Amino acid sequence: MSPPVPALTPEQKKELAAIRIVAPGKGILAADESTGSIAKRLSSVGAENTEENRRWYRQLLFTADKRVEPCIGGVILFHETMYQKADDGRPFPQVIRDKGALVGIKVDKGVVPLAGTNGETTTQGLDGLMERCAQYKKDGADFAKWRCVLKITAHTPTPLAVMENANVLARYASICQQNGIVPIVEPEILPDGDHDLKTCQYVTEKVLAAVYKALSDHHVYLEGTLLKPNMVTAGHACATKYSPEEIAMATVTALRRTVPPAVPGITFLSGGQSEEEASLNLNAINRCPLPRPWALTFSYGRALQASALKAWAGKKDNTKAAQEEFVKRALVGGTWGHFGDIGDTRSSSRERW
Ligand code: 13P
Repeated sequence: MSPPVPALTPEQKKELAAIRIVAPGKGILAADESTGSIAKRLSSVGAENTEENRRWYRQLLFTADKRVEPCIGGVILFHETMYQKADDGRPFPQVIRDKGALVGIKVDKGVVPLAGTNGETTTQGLDGLMERCAQYKKDGADFAKWRCVLKITAHTPTPLAVMENANVLARYASICQQNGIVPIVEPEILPDGDHDLKTCQYVTEKVLAAVYKALSDHHVYLEGTLLKPNMVTAGHACATKYSPEEIAMATVTALRRTVPPAVPGITFLSGGQSEEEASLNLNAINRCPLPRPWALTFSYGRALQASALKAWAGKKDNTKAAQEEFVKRALVGGTWGHFGDIGDTRSSSRERW
């Protein structure tokens, strides 16, 4: 087999590799809730889902004080937010860059049913993606996100869902890279169900192996990507409760078996974990006694925002209090993402399953 026509020039690769979003102790704020998802968040605190409320709430996050700067390397936006402005007239992408963070954009167009399966899904949004990425790059985005969803039940995920979602992630990643945008590849395995930790680890390994096979098939330049996976946890309804150390060992083992060291960073989603749980688990992951060749950090939505949203409750007068809550969570993420970024190279015999 001969090498294909190069997918990217050396200059394109250099540009992508130079986009450094994360590092140990530096993560991502996922503020890219679609209008439908933010509606749920706003209504949970009694705030109306108006464009001004959405703008005000995002502004509150993006203008939190300097303490967050060492902890937040990037912010993911939804299309609408990308083109909104702060009170002082600066477009949000500029507000974010002025704080030393990079701008990311959610480019998928949502999860849709995969016909002929029992409730499985794929993610749409490839049509026009080339042009949209080119425009977002001009408008200040350096990275993007695309989320696929897989479910664990007795009969899922099926090989079809695993293959289809891996392939669509790879197509998206390839298109982003052609436009100088670092793709965050997000194959989220939902925590719904009563499966145990071992089952989640098994499925996570199968899904990630398929994703990295597809990325290779599509000539995606791994050094210019990030992975956004679920942590390996038991299903919400599982009777057995696992410690953060057990979750960390299962998570790092699954990642070590499937994610090449060329990938610079792994930024976990919080996936419905509480702020506290997500922090404890990330801390344990970064203390796990296995070699870890990637930065392991956060790209949380709810686990960075839940307290801030509650403190704000849709009232402008609560802005300062809400920002204080957000700063607290960012600082915890930053501190707990910091412990040893290489692990103990003597301990690989402790990998399990
Ligand atoms: P959560 O951290 O709330 O799961 O959101 C992260 C995200 O961006 C999911 O796509």
